[in-house]
Amino acid sequence: MQRKRAVVLGASIGGMLASRVLSKHFDEVVLVERDLLPDGPVFRKGVSQAHHAHLIYTKGFGIIEDYFPETRRLLEEANTTFTDFGRVRWMQYRKWKATGDLDAPTAIFLRYYLDWAILKQLREVPNLTIMDGAKALGLVIADNVVTGARIEREGQEEVIEADLVIDATGKNSDAQKWLKEYGYGDVKVDVLDVGVKYTSRIYEYPEGVEIPNIIISPDLPHGKRYVLLLNVNTGLLVTLTGIMHDHPGATDDTFLDFAKNMDDPCVYEFMRRLKPKTPIASYGYPRTRRMRYDKFKLPAGFLPFSDSYTSFNPIYGQGMTIAAIEALELDRYLSKSKKFNAKKFYKRVEPYVSFAWGLSYTDMLRLPEAKGKRTLGTKFMNWYIKRVQLASTNPKVYRKFLQAMMMTKPPSILFNPVFMLRVLFTRLFSRKDSPPDFTPLYRQLDEQRSLQVDGIVH
Ligand SMILES: Cc1cc2nc3c(=O)[nH]c(=O)nc-3n(C[C@H](O)[C@H](O)[C@H](O)COP(=O)(O)OP(=O)(O)OC[C@H]3O[C@@H](n4cnc5c(N)ncnc54)[C@H](O)[C@@H]3O)c2cc1C
Repeated sequence: MQRKRAVVLGASIGGMLASRVLSKHFDEVVLVERDLLPDGPVFRKGVSQAHHAHLIYTKGFGIIEDYFPETRRLLEEANTTFTDFGRVRWMQYRKWKATGDLDAPTAIFLRYYLDWAILKQLREVPNLTIMDGAKALGLVIADNVVTGARIEREGQEEVIEADLVIDATGKNSDAQKWLKEYGYGDVKVDVLDVGVKYTSRIYEYPEGVEIPNIIISPDLPHGKRYVLLLNVNTGLLVTLTGIMHDHPGATDDTFLDFAKNMDDPCVYEFMRRLKPKTPIASYGYPRTRRMRYDKFKLPAGFLPFSDSYTSFNPIYGQGMTIAAIEALELDRYLSKSKKFNAKKFYKRVEPYVSFAWGLSYTDMLRLPEAKGKRTLGTKFMNWYIKRVQLASTNPKVYRKFLQAMMMTKPPSILFNPVFMLRVLFTRLFSRKDSPPDFTPLYRQLDEQRSLQVDGIVH
């Protein structure tokens, strides 16, 4: 059934995906964005997390490609790394995971390149109007039905009438406040303080030296630091992340120091040999938050979506993939149903949201500072998932772990009895990992540097 007009508030990944889906089911879609949207891949204030490493899981990227088929080509032209996640050198719990092609394709990019590739295609959608430089102020509700959104543009307030309003204004969404203006009560919220801080800097690509993508995760709960070195569109992106207030500094020295004090200082060894290209950018993320709109009596014709509904702990890299899954489920739901009912939509996405939320929430409970409920179930999960991660020195175990992480297979594959035996036996009989040897690369970088210095001297 074709409907008349939908309005989407917020034009980041969640809002753009929702708009594309709605353009299939509504005569007209209006996408409202507070920022002025750029004409190329550049940073903008509304997506200020974009200075920091963003990894997208296979499932999420696949859905994006289905709705925006030119995405891969546009990203390839912009020097994006397309690789298998199994090729990223990843140390966790002081062990290097297996390496190889493990059925986990991924793309590694600067976040604003992805947003730009999607926006470029969205601009071609004929029944979609992008209204940028326009701030959403609230909703218009009559008889428990949302009939439009209030916005402010060029100092003027106006109302855009709509049959459906989707809020994709992100984790700082005012949706709860907008509902309260009409007498709606408090929405139940699940929160967990995580005290996360990101700092990032791009380094120049050294000529002729191929530096691998590297992730060093901590030995939770003893360590709380994450270090990523990624080949992105314009150089080598280093993102340092500290949880529970063990934060990286933002000066040259403190930035380097943080990476030095890791279980393996390899990223530090690269950093000190590379030339910085950008200043250091910081981003604080105090708590994860799941607004229980799925249990709330929302007015008809309104849907909080993506981060506005659930803001995941960013270190687990789930947000964009869940936004994509929500878009896909919205599409499937609208294709089947004549009337829109937010509860029915949430029921469809709940298994994915709960899985992603549960995984990161439970993992944080390894830290004594995390104020969450510890049950026998969470204790077992943390014991078992750590076994899986340690056994990921075995490529067969790691492949399955990646499939669950990348959301291409259900998490139940990790609980298949044959797999569980493999996890336990790998741990018992082959605990060895194979640490990469980066010394030849350090040497190449050192030689290059001394050549440059010689060049200046003579
Ligand atoms: C530091 C960090 C690292 C992350 N890393 C990853 C990762 O590796 N992988 C991953 O999948 N996810 C990651 N995420 C999560 C990911 O960024 C989000 O899940 C994703 O951007 C989807 O969010 P969204 O579109 O709902 O909201 P946002 O990205 O927050 O965008 C909200 C949009 O709404 C606009 N807006 C806000 N208020 C108004 C208003 N009143 N009126 C109009 N427009 C408004 C903003 O300008 C913005 O465009 C990370 C997040 C953070 C903070």
